[in-house]
Amino acid sequence: MSDTASNQPVLPPEIARRRTFAIISHPDAGKTTLTEKFLLYGGAIQMAGQVRAKGEARRTRSDFMQMEKDRGISVSASAMSFDFDGHRFNLVDTPGHSDFSEDTYRTLTAVDAAVMVIDGAKGVESQTQKLFEVCRLRDLPILTFCNKMDRESRDTFEIIDEIQENLAIDVTPASWPIGVGRDFIGCYDILRDRLELMDRADRNKVAESVEINGLDDPKLAELVPADLLEKFLEEIEMAKELLPPLDHQALLDGTLTPIWFGSAINSFGVQELMAGIAQYGPQPQPQNAEPRAIAPEEKKVAGFVFKVQANMDPKHRDRVAFVRMASGHFKRGMKLTHVRTKKPMAISNPVLFLASDRELAEEAWAGDIIGIPNHGQLRIGDTLTEGEMLRATGIPSFAPELLQGVRAGDPLKSKHLEKALMQFAEEGAAKVFKPSIGSGFIVGVVGQLQFEVLGSRIEMEYGLPVRFEQSQFTSARWVHGEKDAVEKFADANKQHISHDNDGDVVFLTRMQWDIDRVVRDYPDITLSATKEMM
Ligand code: GDP
Repeated sequence: MSDTASNQPVLPPEIARRRTFAIISHPDAGKTTLTEKFLLYGGAIQMAGQVRAKGEARRTRSDFMQMEKDRGISVSASAMSFDFDGHRFNLVDTPGHSDFSEDTYRTLTAVDAAVMVIDGAKGVESQTQKLFEVCRLRDLPILTFCNKMDRESRDTFEIIDEIQENLAIDVTPASWPIGVGRDFIGCYDILRDRLELMDRADRNKVAESVEINGLDDPKLAELVPADLLEKFLEEIEMAKELLPPLDHQALLDGTLTPIWFGSAINSFGVQELMAGIAQYGPQPQPQNAEPRAIAPEEKKVAGFVFKVQANMDPKHRDRVAFVRMASGHFKRGMKLTHVRTKKPMAISNPVLFLASDRELAEEAWAGDIIGIPNHGQLRIGDTLTEGEMLRATGIPSFAPELLQGVRAGDPLKSKHLEKALMQFAEEGAAKVFKPSIGSGFIVGVVGQLQFEVLGSRIEMEYGLPVRFEQSQFTSARWVHGEKDAVEKFADANKQHISHDNDGDVVFLTRMQWDIDRVVRDYPDITLSATKEMM
């Protein structure tokens, strides 16, 4: 089928076999379970259950996210690599909670496709919708997995209709469920003409897979109870009439999503989905950059930082910058240019995240995600190249929607607090503003929960109890314009001016009226709610 997608360039085989994607879903739809089964079939873990166990072990070790455990949400993202069917899969984990949407957004800039998991009984839920819209902004190809088919689920056509209508994307069935709820026996694999029968007795067992010679093959009647078969044949006829066939180009353009039905917990339908990702998922895509785009097949190495995670090991105060390789063949020990500072950087200890552990990355190709431990030089949005001054674009920073003042419990510790805040700001965990009048800091976040996470991390990682207090401001806007104009503006509006951790000028206010006034009175200034990280 891949020949039908004519605009896929021919890439070196090592790059062409890479599939870099994220899973998007509403909490509880089954993302963790599906991830676990991916890793199981990717040979990265031996037994289902390890992802969670591993996660918990790590948490108790670093101990900083008691909250995460209490609330059962996953705050920290990571990347996992494994092999399937001759392909290298790079799965980038997205935090599920809506308060972390900014982080999620940036994670989605590092992938070429998304797997959308929905619960067969619940259909498209709010968080799925939000995340889908973020994918839509970048026309990301989407492959859909309808999970929990072992339980009472909605009518198949109803689920497909809901996706088509709510998400405005065409849907083509890659498989079709046979029976519902307790009567669910398995799926017909439409793409490969096979009958997949689920084993309810053994959750880790691969389904029985029977080759079928078209829908009038008598084997179907032997294997499927008559009443279920009749309904299935009726439905599949209707599906053929009403739904579009798989068009690979439309999938790659993000206008059509294939849907697989299955049950992650029963290991059912997962391998078919993985085979679909391998066969139809996009190969590594070009990366937008200034002054020119970066193509994956370029010989020279380039990559960009989409996430920074601090204090993965509290004893060492280390940070790991997650880098999406955009081009070339990286080898450990290479010297790359850190474009923002124009300084060379020897990358001697890059890590690959193979599910079971971190491992030194001896090499990486375009499409891969590597972690680079560093002491704060690498920031979100930074680009690394072999010398060319390229800057990856499209990795935004959003204006926070909630602002609070923050003070150290012990006033003598405010220097410490400043250091901690700067570190979290660089990690992208919060925006930190230093007002030009008065002391103290203002912290801005996108969701309320981030304040709590921040407070508990500062206390755990820096031994600094902090107090949040109401701020007189409610909005922040970055100030853009010629240097002189910005300075003049800042001088005239001191009570509203602060600087973010990069030293950029930010206008703080509590009234839309103020923003309108600036727009009216300062034509040479623009206020913006996003800032490209650089
Ligand atoms: P996440 O919040 O999206 O990561 O969802 P989880 O993977 O943690 O799953 C949420 C709940 O649904 C857990 O209790 C799982 O055991 C359960 N679950 C996951 N997949 C299935 C499935 O295929 N069938 C059923 N019945 N339950 C499932």
